[in-house]
This record gives sequence, C-alpha cells and structure tokens, in this order.
Amino acid sequence: MMPTVAQRSVSDGISCMRKSQRGQSEQSIQTRLLQAIFEQRMPPGARLTEEALASAFDVSRTTIRQVIARLSQDGILVKLPNGATHVASPSRHEAQQLMVVRRMIEPEIVKILASKAADICFDELSAHLNDEDRARRDGDRGSLVRLTGEFHLHLVRLTGNQVLIRLMTELQALVCLAILLYANGDDGCPVQEHRRIVTAIKKQDGASAANLMLSHLEHIERDLKLDEKPVLHISEALTWLGQREASLARS
Ligand SMILES: [Zn+2]
Repeated sequence: MMPTVAQRSVSDGISCMRKSQRGQSEQSIQTRLLQAIFEQRMPPGARLTEEALASAFDVSRTTIRQVIARLSQDGILVKLPNGATHVASPSRHEAQQLMVVRRMIEPEIVKILASKAADICFDELSAHLNDEDRARRDGDRGSLVRLTGEFHLHLVRLTGNQVLIRLMTELQALVCLAILLYANGDDGCPVQEHRRIVTAIKKQDGASAANLMLSHLEHIERDLKLDEKPVLHISEALTWLGQREASLARS
C-alpha cells in the first residue's frame, strides 16, 4: 500500500533530493528543498541536519549552512537555539495570515496577466491544466496536490515580476505545509476553478479573473479548516496575564 502524504518521512524527502545532480549550487539546493516541500515529501516539523543535507547534495556543510540561513529567513525552515533545524510547522493563526496575503496578491497577479494576455504564450499553462485533469482522473492525489499548488506558481511566473515570483514561492511553500497540517482532504484545489480563471485571463477580463481567484482562495481557506480549534498563543496568554496583574493591582 502506498504511504499517505502524512506518513512520508523526511528520509523520503532526502532520498528524493539524492537523485539530483552532485555538487550543486546554493540556488539549486534551495530549489530542490522547496520542490520536496511542494511535493509533500518534507513533512512540517521534520528535523534536518547539516550532515544529512550535505551528504544528500554532496556539498560542504558551509554551503548547506548558507541554504539553511536563507530558508530560515523566509520562515520555511526554523533554526532552534540548540542548533537543530526543523521544517516550519505553521500554526493555524499563521496559516490564516498567509491566506490574507494570498488574497491581496493573487487577484492582482491575474489582473496583470489579463492586461497583457495578448502577449502571453499559454501553451505551458494549458498543458499543466491537462496534467491536473489527468491526475484527478487517475486518482493520483500526491501529484494532484503538487500540480494544483504549482498552478499558482505558473501564473506568477508569467508576470515576469521577480519580486512577486520570490514572494509567491515562499508563500506557496508555507501554504503546502499548512495544507499537510490542516486540510480536510488532500484533493488539491477545487475542480475546474483553475480552468475558469485561465479562461477569464485569456478573454482579457481582469475583473472576472480577479473575482474568480478570490473565491478560489476562499474555497482553499475553507478546506484548510483554520477555524476548527481555538487558536491559543503565548502572546495572548501574556496579554491576559498582564490584564490580570493590572486588575489585581487595582483591587
Ligand atoms: Zn488553486
């Protein structure tokens, strides 16, 4: 029986990376690590060691340290004071914040694309939509989740805006981790919604494309079940404690 996404271990992720070329650059290692997250081979909270990564990529620990530093800056890896590194494990609250930013950015991305649709080659995007349909038809859930996430990165790449591309890549990696933690099912984005967005872009109808993207993101957020449990944070506890101190002092 195939392991479920949640059952895959960090060793699967590392062995997947091992298949790649030896002696790689920091950029390609970073891309490969992000790919392992997009393919849900790197579970949230997984512990990574410099030794294991340096051996997987056949590079020095100094190179790995720089990659870890960069991905930690982006919040995708978390460095602990004891030197250990973990794959991020976004809380429900953080996942909600990620979705707020996606709702701000992605409708604008599709508006940009609609405004220059006449100059865009849609062949790759159309092929991607066919791949999504095939994975859905074949019941290949692992590929479907990866492909539906990649669709959003395809869109941003078509804008050619490097700042947006970097931002969306980081956001998407964190969203993938949140999906593993909180999604109700693992069927990827709702069926047909990507196709409707692309159709509106092709028609150069930016307003419809933006509205369709917004409701698509709302559907994704609903599937994430971010409101299911009360979200407790140490900052809230400290605020509560502070208020309690203040009321005791007054009495
Ligand atoms: Zn989607």
